[in-house]
Amino acid sequence: MSVDGSLERRKQPPPAPSTGNGNGVVPPNLGHYSANRLRLNPNKDHKPDSYEDLQLEFSPFLFSSLEQYLPPSMLRVSRDIKLQYMKHILLRYSPEGERLRVQRHREYRQKIIANYKPLHKELFTMHAENFFVPSFLKAIKDDKEGGFRSIMFQPSPGVYTFEMLQPNFCEMLLSEVESFERWVHHTKYRIMRPNTMNKYGAVLDDFGLETMLNKLMLDFIRPISEVFFPEVGGATLDSHHGFVVEYGTDRDVELGFHVDDSEVTLNVCLGKQFSGGELFFRGVRCDKHVNTETQSEEMLDYSHVPGRAVLHRGRHRHGARATTSGRRVNLLMWCRSAVFRELRKYQKDCSSWCGECQREKKERQRQAVAATKMELLKRDGKPTA
Ligand SMILES: [Zn+2]
Repeated sequence: MSVDGSLERRKQPPPAPSTGNGNGVVPPNLGHYSANRLRLNPNKDHKPDSYEDLQLEFSPFLFSSLEQYLPPSMLRVSRDIKLQYMKHILLRYSPEGERLRVQRHREYRQKIIANYKPLHKELFTMHAENFFVPSFLKAIKDDKEGGFRSIMFQPSPGVYTFEMLQPNFCEMLLSEVESFERWVHHTKYRIMRPNTMNKYGAVLDDFGLETMLNKLMLDFIRPISEVFFPEVGGATLDSHHGFVVEYGTDRDVELGFHVDDSEVTLNVCLGKQFSGGELFFRGVRCDKHVNTETQSEEMLDYSHVPGRAVLHRGRHRHGARATTSGRRVNLLMWCRSAVFRELRKYQKDCSSWCGECQREKKERQRQAVAATKMELLKRDGKPTA
């Protein structure tokens, strides 16, 4: 199959329209904080505070790990003071535009969380036994490659599927999303949709599920990705974008051919009655090769089963066929690694994951071997002096 250059990189939408008074946001005055310093070596005996209950512009885990680097005098002060101290250090390293974007998005989120009343409170903190099927829990607990492989199918290289979510969890999440949509409808609140390609669906992180989903990524998706996707930062996944998408004749119908803005994508069907909506995969590609041809062994069509997860690299080209009847809702998590993104800037060779780079590399090797053979034959053919 040839791709006609229409492949899209599915992205998060641009930042939320400012919900403030139109005066914009004033950047914090960092003046007297510029002297804030960290120590070079961590204090390993220090037990850091938890920041998971707070809505912050950086991951709560970042603050917990940064605490060990605070100067000794800062270790005895209140969590709030430590937080301010670390925030001002972190803000020094993010450019102003990005800072404003993050700040506006945080305000947008806080406004929703302050006003939306969850339907199922139990969804908002991780209860692994209630969320996941026993086979998945056991494989994670064993934390061994063999355990993961025993529950996973790999219908095509780099695409893994496995039973993951309990029916009851799927139902609760579906009704929570419906309740959120009703709230949006009633309040006429303008919400951001999950990405540039979906008009329906909701960002779960925006209405309070961020901490739970982050735990899902760190404790469940990262150990698996470490084994199956180490070459794209599977071991260092550290942030996510969590959302649901809705398909049906009265919703988004299909999804064009694209790659995700993620290192690893988790896609779980939450259910409802539907027909159609198959996922199709067409090989992993780097930026340079995103529109190159698909090899026959890279083609895969997959039909969703409620509760069952599909895990693949974000750069695995894919799309979804039309959902021809009923309604289909899927949970998506785009898992990202800051380390991998930083390293990629210096990496020229993507042959450990891009199908086309791999093919080119093999071809170069084949030519080198052929040239050497030729050279040897020529030498052997020469008359000896
Ligand atoms: Zn490539």
